[in-house]
Amino acid sequence: MSKMVMFCGGNVADVRTGKIREGLDVLCADGKIKAVGKGLTGDGAEKIDCRGKFVMPGVIDAHVHITWDGSSDPVGLDEREGVYQAMVRGLNHARDSLKAGVTTVRDTGSMGDVAVEVAYAIQKGYAKGCRIVPCGASIQSIYGHVPNIGVIADTDGELIREIREKKLLLTEKEISCQWIKIMATGGAAGMEEVGPSMYSQEQLQLIVGEAHRLHMKVAAHAVSREGIVECIKAGIDTIEHGADIPDEYLRMMKDKGLTLVPTLAIYKVLAESYGIVPDRMVAKSKAVTENQKSTFARAREMGVRIALGTDSGSPNFGPQPAAFQEMLTMEEYGMPSAEVIRSATLTAAEVLGLEEQIGSLDEGKTADVLILSENPYEKLQAFTEALEAVYQAGVLVD
Ligand SMILES: [Zn+2]
Repeated sequence: MSKMVMFCGGNVADVRTGKIREGLDVLCADGKIKAVGKGLTGDGAEKIDCRGKFVMPGVIDAHVHITWDGSSDPVGLDEREGVYQAMVRGLNHARDSLKAGVTTVRDTGSMGDVAVEVAYAIQKGYAKGCRIVPCGASIQSIYGHVPNIGVIADTDGELIREIREKKLLLTEKEISCQWIKIMATGGAAGMEEVGPSMYSQEQLQLIVGEAHRLHMKVAAHAVSREGIVECIKAGIDTIEHGADIPDEYLRMMKDKGLTLVPTLAIYKVLAESYGIVPDRMVAKSKAVTENQKSTFARAREMGVRIALGTDSGSPNFGPQPAAFQEMLTMEEYGMPSAEVIRSATLTAAEVLGLEEQIGSLDEGKTADVLILSENPYEKLQAFTEALEAVYQAGVLVD
């Protein structure tokens, strides 16, 4: 007997076009959407009255650190408490994210590959939480950004070795959507300069070539212009943060089909965190925020693919999830709500390579469904203020 549920008569979002379709039924069976239409009979299905409500796909965050707690020093906490406690925190954050309607995240770096274990535990049903696409520990050079969530690889041989180790780990843990993360420049959190590219162009190409050959994709932390430019030239799949990108390279991103994951809200928060985080972090973040406004606006205008990502769990960012803070910041920086919602659902799914499974309410996809009492296209705050229920694969999250 297949478990069937039908969301009846709701205002169903078509995130592809940004339009609401009124009075539709969404029939789900065995965790998948079977049909979307008017007047479905849904024999044998549990009926959920959605008249007057808004039916949305689950939100996807393409950049989180699932073990970090968003306190003033999550990196220090990881180090003091070790990987076992990081694992427990990660499981809790994954559950909190799911309950709030963030049904899928990509973890872009964790101490000791622990996010891979969190993802595995949830996948196996050992714990409840959002789906996680884990990159494991980030790959980085000896002179780099947040080394405690990374493994050091400096030579070509070390890089190849680390990528293959990651391939082995992800495959053993039955993670089918496989990504690696590299630290391509410095960042706001550490002592290092933001400026230089941490790897040469040849090494970046080696990383992309090896990862792609093994059917993996590459995310790069890239904050400074000189580092970002090298990543774009090398064809890195997702440019994380991407604070400062000249037009010429935005055009190249578009031509090559690369994606910007801008993480706007965290730098805004850090730029205003005097006395809570180290002064250098505040100063660096102010510069990042100024550049981001312009880059984000130009990327939008030029049609560069943009996926929502938050850096959830980062210093002074507050509890996970942070996707709704990011949505508001994207809107504040000029993106209309329909584009924000697309970027947080279907676009993020496409970027991750999961568009056959999630990201919209289409037949055949997993029934990750949010029920809201207000229209998020009119007011993005509806995702937090008017969230009534979350369904994961057709099952009510409680
Ligand atoms: Zn990050």
